[in-house]
Amino acid sequence: MAPVSDGLVTMEKIVSLCKRRGFVLPSSEIYGGLGSSYDYAHYGVLLKNNVKGQWWRAMLQERDDVVALDSAIIQHPRTWEASGHLAGFTDPLVDCRTCKLRFRADLIDQAQCGRKPSKHPGETPDCDLTGARDFNLMFETTIGPVSEEGSTVYLRPETAQGIFLNFKSYLQFSRKKPPFGIAQIGKSFRNEITTGNFIFRMREFEQMEMEFFVPPDQAEMWFGHWLEQRMNWYTTLGLRPDHLRLRAHDQDELSHYSSATSDVEYLFPIGWSEVEGIANRGDFDLTMHAKFSGQKLEYVDTASGERYIPHVIEPAAGADRALLAFLVDAYDEDEIEGEVRTVLRLHPLIAPVKVVVLPLVRKDGQPELASEVYRDLRERFQTEYDEGGAIGRRYRRQDEIGTPWAVTIDHQSLEDRTVTLRDRDSLAQERIAIGELGEEIERRLRAPWRSPKLET
Ligand code: ATP
Repeated sequence: MAPVSDGLVTMEKIVSLCKRRGFVLPSSEIYGGLGSSYDYAHYGVLLKNNVKGQWWRAMLQERDDVVALDSAIIQHPRTWEASGHLAGFTDPLVDCRTCKLRFRADLIDQAQCGRKPSKHPGETPDCDLTGARDFNLMFETTIGPVSEEGSTVYLRPETAQGIFLNFKSYLQFSRKKPPFGIAQIGKSFRNEITTGNFIFRMREFEQMEMEFFVPPDQAEMWFGHWLEQRMNWYTTLGLRPDHLRLRAHDQDELSHYSSATSDVEYLFPIGWSEVEGIANRGDFDLTMHAKFSGQKLEYVDTASGERYIPHVIEPAAGADRALLAFLVDAYDEDEIEGEVRTVLRLHPLIAPVKVVVLPLVRKDGQPELASEVYRDLRERFQTEYDEGGAIGRRYRRQDEIGTPWAVTIDHQSLEDRTVTLRDRDSLAQERIAIGELGEEIERRLRAPWRSPKLET
């Protein structure tokens, strides 16, 4: 088994695998597609559910100081005044009157002229650029049957604000007091100007955000805690540590309210890029919403009478970007019997399908026994059954979607009720009794895992 690719995989290979195997498809393709919109197909849905499931697990099941929320996408428009998005969530844009294209003023030296792609906008005599104008990235719509003053609302550009709006209710019903967090996963919308790079930057995407409310004097300590927790989450789920880093924002990069922000960055084929931002937001959000709503958004200790506005530590991750990082990190090619095999070396916990059951031949009672094993395993794991085509082909198909284990039923299985259990990465085949399969797969699923790409 000789590795033929151990360097960086290209985005084209990922896009092509995603389409070929049904992970992610261009949206509205029969109408020519829609810029930066993608649909998650079957295996993409399973994979993303696993990524989100692991995030929930780390936030809720493995701790007792975080609770969950699923807030509305369309919130009261005052939300975005208070948060600063209405005034400040903008990109500076430049239009070209000649080619009618629009560019981000701060990225114009990376853009291509609409008429002469070898030039940057403004470099040819025909270019006719406007001055830079601020363009708000929030999608606007109206509520109710007629658009009239006061009916304008926005699709949320982040999930975080829904958490702040509910802070007061959570203090009342959740029996939590700072330090505690509220976590949410949901769709966010941004009318991004610079798009491309597949699901890295979309106009509609999913965020996994948690706001952790702490006594002000503990903010720094908790910021450190969350940096560590979040880095561990990615590496425990198999991302290679040498492809992951924390980058602290420089002073001039920080939002005006944040005393510290660090990005978790992954080495994508497009270079080091953010998958998650972790920020110490101070008391900015609660103070602003208190001011705009007229409500008191503070914590009062009933025993001591102490009152304060909690500070907030926010780990804000993108489900799509995390998924892309897992895919890129897992993608591998090797050679088996002279043929190149594409394989996704995903951590078993996030692999879309855990196990496939394959009768070696479609006769002699093998399909019947295989179906029995399949029905049994699918009670516990996302399982597939496949009896069509040469066995090598069937293994290959599962390798491409990252299925960690394959159970093969052969003639011996009918005699002694044993099967072979094939491992996606080592290719080792072990003979095992049917009755022990479930426990063995469960054991392997829970075992610590390390990317086999680290060895190469
Ligand atoms: P960028 O600088 O790349 O635009 P950001 O700093 O604006 O990202 P945040 O507002 O911190 O992003 O959002 C938190 C997370 O949400 C990001 O780390 C990213 O994973 C995800 N995210 C943000 N914008 C997009 C997008 N357009 N498409 C996909 N994911 C996104």
